Amino acid sequence: MRFFDPHIHMTSRTTDDIEAMAAAGIRAVIEPAFWLGQPRTHAGSFIDYFSSLIGWERFRCAQFGIAHYCAIGLNSKEANNEALAREVLELIPHFALKEGVVAIGEIGYDEITPAEDFAYQAQLDFARQHDLMVMVHTPHRDKKNGTRRSIDVAREHGIDMHKLVIDHNNEETVRDVLDAGAWAAFTIYPNTKMGSERMVEIVRQYGPQRIIVDSSADWGVSDPLSVPKTARLMLERGIPAAHVEAVSWGNALHAYAQSQQIDVAALDETPRLDQRQLFADNSVLRGQKPRIDEPVPN
Ligand SMILES: [Zn+2]
Repeated sequence: MRFFDPHIHMTSRTTDDIEAMAAAGIRAVIEPAFWLGQPRTHAGSFIDYFSSLIGWERFRCAQFGIAHYCAIGLNSKEANNEALAREVLELIPHFALKEGVVAIGEIGYDEITPAEDFAYQAQLDFARQHDLMVMVHTPHRDKKNGTRRSIDVAREHGIDMHKLVIDHNNEETVRDVLDAGAWAAFTIYPNTKMGSERMVEIVRQYGPQRIIVDSSADWGVSDPLSVPKTARLMLERGIPAAHVEAVSWGNALHAYAQSQQIDVAALDETPRLDQRQLFADNSVLRGQKPRIDEPVPN
């Protein structure tokens, strides 16, 4: 079985993680722009971060056979530094329309402040103007109201519900998201919040339509193998294989392929690695022997 993890922060993960992900069957990932655990103080830090998402991080994943896409956006936490937020919002158009960018994200609410509302709405307007997908991070506190508000504001700003992915759902929010016609993504955390066991029951109850599983793995306690591990548990617990395939591969692909930035046919092919490749003269190998797969015979 192959897997798509459509929400993972690869910049925080090591090559050991990337190799383990590829070995577990993860074939494609989406890395949304996020905060780094410590607030940035200059717009230039965002320029370099966005550049790494479309450059070095894509290269690192490709070196191990994983297709890397990204989403560009100003996250809700850092939207609260209003002066910096205005500078970052001006940067978004310079990155969001580049190759391999599949959405505006992750954007939305954290504490539901006026500053967060301003940044969220400005980015929704940009997404609508350019017909882009939107990936929304819902708040961890007051999740039900925060989720409803995220959907309502997106709708008010003219976002097509088929282009809206609401993430970090749980049992309390899934019905609202599905009823709205948006995609309902679930972040599987290893210990707390949403775990694999709960995810199995959600898919059993709601079926696979428009439901997406992701890891959201970052610099905190998280698991980059959440998607394959949850898929395995679903199969063990009797969820039909076609449903497991939908929530761990097909739905994310259908949702984000609307961006026209995903070469769907290429994902069907077995990746052939050539670790002699360089990115801006740099390699991931640190002097170690490159893996070079034989070309496919004609
Ligand atoms: Zn995230």
